[in-house]
Amino acid sequence: MIGAGAAGLATAIFTGRSSPHLKVLLLDGARRPGAKILISGGGRCNVTNSSVSERDFWGGRSTIVRHVLSGLPVAETVAFFGEVGVPLHEEPGGKLFPDSNRARDVLEALLREVERVHAHLLTAHRVVGISGARGGFTVDTLQGSIAARAVVLAAGGQSLPRTGSDGAGVQLAQRLGHTIVETTPALAPLRIGRADGSFHERLSGVAHDADLTVWADRQVLIRLRGSLLWTHFGVSGPLALNASRHWARAALEGRAPRMTVSFCPGLRFDDADARLVAAARERPRAAAPTVLAAWLPASVAAALASEIGLPDVALAQVPRDDRRRLSHALVEWPLAVEDTRGYNYAEATAGGVTLGEIDPSTMESRVCPGLFLVGEVLDVDGRIGGYNFQWAWASARAAARGLATTL
Ligand SMILES: Cc1cc2nc3c(=O)[nH]c(=O)nc-3n(C[C@H](O)[C@H](O)[C@H](O)COP(=O)(O)OP(=O)(O)OC[C@H]3O[C@@H](n4cnc5c(N)ncnc54)[C@H](O)[C@@H]3O)c2cc1C
Repeated sequence: MIGAGAAGLATAIFTGRSSPHLKVLLLDGARRPGAKILISGGGRCNVTNSSVSERDFWGGRSTIVRHVLSGLPVAETVAFFGEVGVPLHEEPGGKLFPDSNRARDVLEALLREVERVHAHLLTAHRVVGISGARGGFTVDTLQGSIAARAVVLAAGGQSLPRTGSDGAGVQLAQRLGHTIVETTPALAPLRIGRADGSFHERLSGVAHDADLTVWADRQVLIRLRGSLLWTHFGVSGPLALNASRHWARAALEGRAPRMTVSFCPGLRFDDADARLVAAARERPRAAAPTVLAAWLPASVAAALASEIGLPDVALAQVPRDDRRRLSHALVEWPLAVEDTRGYNYAEATAGGVTLGEIDPSTMESRVCPGLFLVGEVLDVDGRIGGYNFQWAWASARAAARGLATTL
C-alpha cells in the first residue's frame, strides 16, 4: 500500500482482517503518517456523516460513487470506530466526531489496529516508481525496491502538500496508463481582489447565513446555502469552501466564473424589495441599516448601506431607485473572486484518476490489473461534513474485498 493516510490505513486494516494470510506492507513518504487526520475537523476529526449519498460528492460519475459508498454504510463506519475504541457522536449537520473530540485518538486507534492485524508500516519511504502487473510489481522507493503481488495506491491528492500528499500519487497512476482529470483545489477559501474595495476586510471575522451563486458563461452553475465567513483576504467558512471547487473548475475550463452572494437566503429580488417596502411601512422612522440589522449582522447591514451610497435618511424616505439598488445588493452582491487560496489552504483536491477506469466493486484498475486505487487520488471530492473521510473508508473497504478475491 502506498500512502498511510486515512485510505491507506483503512485498506491495510480491512485487508488484514479479511485476508490474514496476506502480507501487507504500508509505505509512506512522511516520517509521521496521518498528518491530515490529525489536523482534520479543527483537530477533532469529522470522521463521517450520519447521512451520506453520492449527492454529497463531485467529480466522477455519481453511479460509481454510489456503488463504492454502498459497500460501507455509515452504520458500519460507526461500528468500526466503536470496535477500535473511538465511539462517535453526532453534531449539527449530521457530522460525526469522536466522543473525545481528539483527532489524535482516531489516528492512534487506526495505527494500533494496523499493528494488531500484523500489517507492517514503513515511514520515510517515498515511492518514486511502480512497474509490472498483477502478481509481479516492483515498487521503487528512495530506499530501494520492493516486490509486490498487488499495489494499492492511496497517496492522496494535492491539498496541503506539506503533509506529504503532493500529487505524486496522481503522477504514479498516470505513468501506469491512467487518465487524469486535471486537478484543482477544492474546499479552499476564496481570495477577493482589490476591485472589491475593502468590503471583505471591513467585515473580517463576521459570519452569517447566505446563498452563494457561482455563475459560468453568464449562467447559474450552482447555488449553495450555508455559513459564510468574511476574512481579511476574502471569504471562507463552509459555504465558501463548498463553492470553491465549482469556481475553480469553471476557471479551469475558461468559462469566466463569477460569484454573487445573497444576504437573504432563499429570497429573490422582488421578495427582498417587498420586504423592504413592508419594513418601511411598519417602521417609517427607522434608517435602512437599522431595519436590515433585524435580518443581518449589524456590521454587514452598515457596510452594505455605505458601500452602495444609500442616503442617510429613514428607509421610508429612500427614493425608489435607491431602495431597488439596495434590494439588488441584498440578493446579488458581486464577489470579485480572484482565485482560491490554493492547495496550501485547500482541504481536498478536485480531479484525479478518472473513475471510469476503476472497477467500483473492488477499486481495481481496469488499465493496470493488480493496481488498486483508493481515497483522494481518485476524481472524487466531497463537501464539508465528513464526506471525504467516508469516501476514504468506503473505497478502502471495497479494495480490501478486491484484494481478498484477487490474491
Ligand atoms: C485541514 C484539513 C482538514 C480536513 N478535515 C476533514 C474532516 O474533518 N473530515 C473529512 O471527511 N475530511 C477532512 N479533510 C479531507 C481529508 O483529510 C482527506 O480527504 C483524506 O485525508 C484523504 O485521505 P487519503 O488517504 O486519500 O489521502 P491523505 O490523507 O492525503 O494520505 C496520503 C498519504 O500518502 C502519502 N504519500 C503521498 N505520496 C507518496 C509517495 N510518493 N510515496 C509514499 N507515500 C506517499 C502521504 O505522505 C500521506 O500520508 C481535511 C483536509 C484538510 C487538509
